[in-house]
Amino acid sequence: MSVSKITGIVIKEVNLKESDKIITIFSSEIGKVQLYVKRAREIKSPFLAGTQLLTHASFVYTPKNNINFLNQISITCGFEKIKFDIEKIYYAMYFLEFLDKTVELESPAEDMFIFLVKILNRFNDGNDDIKLIRLIYELKMLALLGYAPEVTKCIRCESGVTEENNYFNFEDCGVVCEKCLESDATVMKLNKESLHAMQYILYIEIDKIFSFEISPKIIKELREIVDKLVKINIGQSFRTLDFLNKI
Ligand SMILES: [Zn+2]
Repeated sequence: MSVSKITGIVIKEVNLKESDKIITIFSSEIGKVQLYVKRAREIKSPFLAGTQLLTHASFVYTPKNNINFLNQISITCGFEKIKFDIEKIYYAMYFLEFLDKTVELESPAEDMFIFLVKILNRFNDGNDDIKLIRLIYELKMLALLGYAPEVTKCIRCESGVTEENNYFNFEDCGVVCEKCLESDATVMKLNKESLHAMQYILYIEIDKIFSFEISPKIIKELREIVDKLVKINIGQSFRTLDFLNKI
């Protein structure tokens, strides 16, 4: 019988009868995968801690009749500081739900896994502006999913963006210059700081992605843009956002 080993993070758990559960792992090797865990919720179960949300671990499992049965877990980290901060935990739950709803099963996405680990580590250890971290996560995920907005040149005439007088066109998800502005399009005038922030998030290497700050006014503007981009490109509602919108 073949045995598989992956390194990943638990992004979803569903309880079943008799204390069994199914966990969804987002892994470095094969992307999203579901594992069946027998008796996971029993107090003496060796899988009690390792099958909880946010656990970063290596998982050994046996595929049998289209079900992957978990055999062994070796925990790397549980992102414990996130779990003790009520605001952070809601944000992290949203990040996990976003991932679960936007990626297919067993579709390798190593760059997405590396980004997830970096953002959760940063979230666990740092004191960054939590609203900025959410924007970084959503914009970068949109790009990794193939929905990066065009923010370096006008989507009509393809001239490079200038410092001022740029607009964001939501129908075509990109910047238009003043000359190409159409009166009937859904556009928003872009602050140059918002444009710079989007360029930075989308094109800077992941290790440097968190090293900037922006004002609450720009965060608000970016929030409006990213909300619309997520709605247009992903078209899903997220259960965890109901909590986030209340805090
Ligand atoms: Zn133009």
